[in-house]
Amino acid sequence: MVDIKSLTPEELKNEFINKGYKPFRASQVYDWMHVKLVRSFDEMTNIPVDMRAELSREYDLTSLKIVKEQISKEDGTRKFLFELCDGNLVESVFMRYKHGNSVCISSQVGCRMGCRFCASTLDGCVRSLKPSEMLDQIYAISHHVGERISNIVVMGMGEPLDNYDSLLRFIELITNSSGLNISTRNITVSTCGLADKIKELAAHKLGITLALSLHATTDKKRQELMPIAKVYSIEELMDACAYYFEMTGRRISFEYSLVAGVNDTMEDAAGLTGLAKRVSAHVNLIPVNPINERDFKRGTREAILAFKNKLEKNGINVTIRREMGQDIDGACGQLRRRKLTEE
Ligand code: SAH
Repeated sequence: MVDIKSLTPEELKNEFINKGYKPFRASQVYDWMHVKLVRSFDEMTNIPVDMRAELSREYDLTSLKIVKEQISKEDGTRKFLFELCDGNLVESVFMRYKHGNSVCISSQVGCRMGCRFCASTLDGCVRSLKPSEMLDQIYAISHHVGERISNIVVMGMGEPLDNYDSLLRFIELITNSSGLNISTRNITVSTCGLADKIKELAAHKLGITLALSLHATTDKKRQELMPIAKVYSIEELMDACAYYFEMTGRRISFEYSLVAGVNDTMEDAAGLTGLAKRVSAHVNLIPVNPINERDFKRGTREAILAFKNKLEKNGINVTIRREMGQDIDGACGQLRRRKLTEE
């Protein structure tokens, strides 16, 4: 069955024309799905009852069920565990910032990249999400919280560039003026570094921000933390980043998860400075969130600040990821993992 929520307005119109419906029905149905955010054809009250019945026979309309919601007492961050139509689980996070509400979404059920410190990848990748299922996370949260979402980060479970076609379609739909109409400037996609795909994405010249999960400044150390580093060298990644910047004019962000005694020495800071300067990157430091399955430790507050200061002295634009929702399993993949383990 056709996944109706993954169709663009033009595709939906053509579908409907082919089925003998009036073209304006396509705009109405699109609006119900992407603006009014309803979960079923039955809620589309300006569509004739028999047409609604036909639609539900012929189209797949995805929706999510909230399995769990954790609200942080510290900062109001909300973490959601959602169940997809086939029973699989994904996580998303709602965060409130001064500049607007932001949602962090998952792009896959699990992940096959195998980064050592990450909980999402411990059981591998079950499957990639459809564009509609990425939208659904935002729609369900916006509907549930009753507030508009203005920023999207694709930084939840999964590797977005390993689900490339669906990611592009998702971006097309979420930025479409007939839908939530979110600006590409307010979208960030985070990747562990699939250099070929970074270049492909660059060629589309979308205004989205690319975040590269760097985490180490030498190939040897990066390979110890991230298996993907055996496929793409830092050199290849820097080429891809430079190309991205050149094509889009958008500054890359480096994400750097600080692990005590592993990648937090002053030598690492010097290496990171060199790489950031090369491609004019902004650096976002993430004090590692320890997970039970691995023995990675977070450094002291002083060590983290010393690392940040070193970069700043070197003229790098650096921030420490504001740690939201620490009290609610903030780290990627921990909530799903807990639920699966309970079962
Ligand atoms: N696959 C994408 C997006 C997923 S995670 C990527 O690799 O970028 C978003 C960020 O959180 C990545 O930088 C990832 O490396 C980091 N991350 C994952 N688990 C972490 C943990 N336990 N502590 C700190 N950062 C973590």
